[in-house]
Amino acid sequence: MHVNEMAVATWGDRSSLALFLDIDGTLVPIAPTPAEVRPSPDLPRLLTRAATDLGNALAIVSGREITSIDQVTQGVVPYVAGSHGAEFRLGFGQPILRPGPQPDIAGLGSEVLALMSDWPGILVEPKRAGLAVHYRKVPHLGQQVWSELEMMLARREQSGLSLLKGDHVVEVRSPAHNKGEAVRRIMKEPAFQGRRPVFIGDDVTDEDAFVVVQEMNGTAVIVGDRRPTLATHQLSSVAAVLDLLARI
Ligand SMILES: [Mg+2]
Repeated sequence: MHVNEMAVATWGDRSSLALFLDIDGTLVPIAPTPAEVRPSPDLPRLLTRAATDLGNALAIVSGREITSIDQVTQGVVPYVAGSHGAEFRLGFGQPILRPGPQPDIAGLGSEVLALMSDWPGILVEPKRAGLAVHYRKVPHLGQQVWSELEMMLARREQSGLSLLKGDHVVEVRSPAHNKGEAVRRIMKEPAFQGRRPVFIGDDVTDEDAFVVVQEMNGTAVIVGDRRPTLATHQLSSVAAVLDLLARI
């Protein structure tokens, strides 16, 4: 399917729009590890203004934990879904919520570290509701990472966990949590109700959200040239996303 370049003119009336943004590869260029990203100094200002112009109908939906999202965005975004929707903060000053059954991750981090601690270049990132193994520095180990984690999960029956492949990362997490369900949850908030959702993201994990926003008569925008995708529109780069934000 042809993917059209996203033009700000097609966004329509700001008062009927809700904007959902991924972080890595969307608002900040991908870095060798998540801690090494260098956000544009303009990012907090752009997000603050977008939130105001959209009547606070602005959300971040990321695989990062909320504490990590806040570090990148300086906490200026009103609605946040972290860990692929395992945690939410619904409005400024609100507590972090962790709805639904949480997967059994007891011992998961130490088991994976024991498996991969002597693999140079592999970064094991424990998360509250799962774990991520990054192999951006050693892409040739991607298949091996996947196989090891697959075997590990086979030994942990009933853990409620599954594997998901992202951009040079394998996530171990509950399939109940995904970015599509995160969008559905946030769209129930009064600031979002009745608005048309636009989701901008780059990775395979964003495809769940692409489906949901289109179900809701919204628009799915992919950043970059990863294909195939269910998005109908694209932006070429992080710079193009920031440029679009500046023109909301
Ligand atoms: Mg991303």
